[in-house]
Amino acid sequence: MKGKKIPGFKKMSSNKKIGVYTKPSIVYIPLVNQNDDNITLLVKKGDYVYKGSILGKRKGVLRIPILSSVSGTVIDFVERHYANGNIVKCVAIENDFKEKVEKEIKRKEINKLSKEEFINIIRDKGIVGMGGSGFPTYVKYDTDKKINTLIINAVECEPYITADFALINEHCEEILEAIDAILDINNIDEAIIAVKKSNTQLVKILENNVGSYLRMKISKVPNFYPMGWEKNLVEFVKHVTYKKLPSEKGIIVNNVATIYAIYEALKYDKPLVERVVTFTGEKLKSPQNVLVKVGTPVSEVIEIIGGYKKYKDLLFVAGGPMMGISLPNDDLVVSPNLNCVLALYDKKEELVTQCLRCGKCVEVCPAKLVPVMVKDNINKPERLKELRPDRCISCGLCTYVCPARINVREYIKAAKERLRGE
Ligand code: SF4
Ligand code: SF4
Repeated sequence: MKGKKIPGFKKMSSNKKIGVYTKPSIVYIPLVNQNDDNITLLVKKGDYVYKGSILGKRKGVLRIPILSSVSGTVIDFVERHYANGNIVKCVAIENDFKEKVEKEIKRKEINKLSKEEFINIIRDKGIVGMGGSGFPTYVKYDTDKKINTLIINAVECEPYITADFALINEHCEEILEAIDAILDINNIDEAIIAVKKSNTQLVKILENNVGSYLRMKISKVPNFYPMGWEKNLVEFVKHVTYKKLPSEKGIIVNNVATIYAIYEALKYDKPLVERVVTFTGEKLKSPQNVLVKVGTPVSEVIEIIGGYKKYKDLLFVAGGPMMGISLPNDDLVVSPNLNCVLALYDKKEELVTQCLRCGKCVEVCPAKLVPVMVKDNINKPERLKELRPDRCISCGLCTYVCPARINVREYIKAAKERLRGE
């Protein structure tokens, strides 16, 4: 298992109560799921929509709806920055602040749902991987294979991000209730909650609550990055490796925020239209976790929580410092897969020099690539194919360790796109 111990910078946001900002006057819902903007639009200007109404549907096999996060009127179609750095089409909806839903449903005994009902609910309520992937969660459960183990990824190994920590801190009971129901419904034998050994506060919360759930265990994992990468996690926790998906070995992995979204969908029929996002970084006056609606302009949330210390020399990132995407400004909207917004000091003075051939990027790459070779062969497609940049998980470690300050990850990303376009 390759990786590196890196500083956490978590204290900035971890010990504050989750803030709430769920009343934006206009939301801009991105018409995209998992980088796919091939969406069938189902609304037009002037339409009235409920909270949870379907605005569009992803085409193809991975059917997942795009849902409204407010009740109100569709007023426009505009372009905004999305979590992956692209500018995408969004549905602008004027909020009437009535939070109207088509039908209120509350379920007392969620453990008794059938597997079919469970899959339909999590698909129709738009549940996706909230750790950044945006992968439709129902697909993981929609399998005939026997699943033995559910791993809950509470590692949150990327610096600065504390959204999952905040959720466990404030909603541990609900998260455990959801895990218990998922085990019953899907006939899964055990759940293992993976948490960093060094996060003693989180370990203690879990140990105090897991006790009565006999099928649940806690696995304390080492503190290195990217320990939370699915492959590393499965290898450490279950001592097995897999080729494409953990289900090959009877395992499903979900992160904490996704489990909490499943809880709300099963219990209250709530769509995934709100999430906790970590707003942090030394350029913010008051870093904290905030519950926000999907489609909320990030600039609005930053203003509400106190704004910037100084806008000058600002490096703005959608996501964490390792895997996130730097953006020219804060013109970004919240999406289900956005776990963090970073406002950092832009160290422009760090000049890029020539590659030193030190091999550090090779030493750390968890995907066992040779990043420097990908960089050197960026214009040679045949050689690129052999170097397999498609296996890159965008962890950013190659850039982090590079003494020449080369943004190696960007070369790998360009190589991936070049091969995809072939
Ligand atoms: S090449 Fe990709 S997987 Fe390897 S260190 Fe760089 S970003 Fe991470
Ligand atoms: S870490 Fe940077 S300087 Fe060292 S080999 Fe890789 S690209 Fe070159």
